[in-house]
Amino acid sequence: MRILNTQMLAITGLLSLGITGVRNIHAAEKLNPSKPNFIIILADDMGYGDVGIFGHPTIKTPNLDRMASEGQKWTNFYVAAPVCTPSRAGLLTGRLPVRTGMCSEKRRVLFPDSKGGLPENEMTIASALKTTGYATACIGKWHLGHLPQYAPNAHGFDYYFGIPYSNDMDATSLKPNRLESILNPRPEYFIVPLMRNSEIIERPADQTTITKRYTLEAIKFIKQNKQMPFFLYLAHSMPHVPLFRSREFENKSLRGVYGDVIEELDWSVGEILKSLKENGLDENTLVVFTSDNGPWLVFQDQGGSAGLLSGGKGGTWEGGMREPTIMHWTGKLKPGVVMDIATTMDLLPTFASLAHVILPNDRIYDGYDISPVLFGTGKDPREVVYYYRDTQVYAIRKGDYKAHFITQPEYGSEIATIQDPPLLFNLNIDPSEKHNVADQFPKVIAEMEKILEKHRAGIMTVENQLEK
Ligand code: MG
Repeated sequence: MRILNTQMLAITGLLSLGITGVRNIHAAEKLNPSKPNFIIILADDMGYGDVGIFGHPTIKTPNLDRMASEGQKWTNFYVAAPVCTPSRAGLLTGRLPVRTGMCSEKRRVLFPDSKGGLPENEMTIASALKTTGYATACIGKWHLGHLPQYAPNAHGFDYYFGIPYSNDMDATSLKPNRLESILNPRPEYFIVPLMRNSEIIERPADQTTITKRYTLEAIKFIKQNKQMPFFLYLAHSMPHVPLFRSREFENKSLRGVYGDVIEELDWSVGEILKSLKENGLDENTLVVFTSDNGPWLVFQDQGGSAGLLSGGKGGTWEGGMREPTIMHWTGKLKPGVVMDIATTMDLLPTFASLAHVILPNDRIYDGYDISPVLFGTGKDPREVVYYYRDTQVYAIRKGDYKAHFITQPEYGSEIATIQDPPLLFNLNIDPSEKHNVADQFPKVIAEMEKILEKHRAGIMTVENQLEK
């Protein structure tokens, strides 16, 4: 079996790179026709309130709305961290970033001069699925290390196409000043590379067509791999500032340029779903749509909205880490609104379970197999959410309640405030975290303190990748 798997991995790599002459092997690749395909569509910095079906009054998202009405709208779905690099590390590894060295107080994300990245021995969703013959592609923003040893191709992805870090990096001296360059951007202000596998194919990347080109690449990958199980990680660079959209979407939205950008992302989702249907794959493909963190509020109307949630990107109020999440799988998911608690770290164990991958037991996972919730067959395995800001737990949710042990504005120079006693909110009654009920529930506070203490004791120090 091991030999077979190795052969399959080799074949998978060749096929996804578009190498011809091995098409007759396709039939053999259908050894496991029951294996589902997985697609994660990740927006960058989109807020909880930026989608029609999540309550935005003027941004039109007919495709996301339809995806939710045919599938499931998840209203208590979280990320591992409120900024890009640690959030993505958590999503792809199923582990808190503090366990992989992918978070830091000094540098909150990786930068073009960073020397670190996701360590070689970390297993990603892609590398896990490859052990059972999946074709894998990462299209879009990576942000887990741009040096070859950390790049998507080193972490289980057969194919990579995208900008390896944030689209506001590699800023040039052409820009008037940072704020001006972001609010009135031109592609040449940010000389970010566009890469195909390890090769830079365009620099600066023409960001005006980036959403469109990611989408076309994704559709090409779906078509090329329709005969075998695949995992597509489509991590859009938008709507992270500076905002860019194609000409067809300019001045379309009542919500201004930010709305134009979201409406183009919505078009992209529609194209992906259409492609699945056209290729007869919609009944065998789980599609997950979410965002890596909340809206970047300091950019005013060019940042998004967390709707009724407090806070945004960078912080541990709900708006920073609760994301507009939609799951779609024609004929498999009972349509509806799912209020159970889950996180992006649950995707790895869930996909592994659905693809019959046995995960190595030499590490701690922070994710759970949430397929019982997806299919309505059982109870939510997740009880607790840890809200990390960099390397510290700032808050904990258990069930209805959330305790803030530390609070701090998302950005700016204001230092952290230790909350003793912690602030306590009932998130079902008060999702906006406005009414502190700590004095009414001392037992809940005591339980939260115990959970925190136990959790902290289980975290080992590892090499920090963001400070290298
Ligand atoms: Mg982000």
